[in-house]
Amino acid sequence: MIGLLLLGACNLGLQPDIHDATVIKSPRIEPTADIYEVGFLRRGPINQGSWKLPPDVRVCANAPITKQRVEKALDFWRELGYSFNEIYYNDVSRHCTEELFSYSTIIIDLIDGTHKEPALATTTTWIESETKRILKAKIVLKSRYGNVERILEHELGHAFGWKDCNRTGHIMNHNWGLSGLDTSGLEKAK
Ligand SMILES: [Zn+2]
Repeated sequence: MIGLLLLGACNLGLQPDIHDATVIKSPRIEPTADIYEVGFLRRGPINQGSWKLPPDVRVCANAPITKQRVEKALDFWRELGYSFNEIYYNDVSRHCTEELFSYSTIIIDLIDGTHKEPALATTTTWIESETKRILKAKIVLKSRYGNVERILEHELGHAFGWKDCNRTGHIMNHNWGLSGLDTSGLEKAK
């Protein structure tokens, strides 16, 4: 019920009800490999929420990434059982140019000036507290790193509600230098 209401609100450009949604800003993905302490529990990724319906993806015109690179990352998640609705490239719609609360949408854009070094990318995911439904996600990429392997795949993981994990070689490892293509634990539940 709530999902339908929220979808309806999307076109009106209403502000999010922050009392109902948990805003999860993922830790920045770091380019170097020294943040995990020895003896830190090694565990698989934890999921914090899921989309009610496959989300749209809007790649904003300023996003520092090629269409081919985005397609590759989307295919990576499709192979794990996830799906997307409409995909928009070179988007200059209000979703990209205004502070619109774009429900049911993953936005991919250029990182803005508020992000500090050495962030390569950051994802913010809005999750409804009670239902654990993901309402919206925004991925911002740093200009010179948008096309680098595994970065968008990792950030899309956050957009699907996955937290960082510290397993070496895993795509959800927060540390880019320690991450890899291991996807164990990420398959979408049927
Ligand atoms: Zn991360």
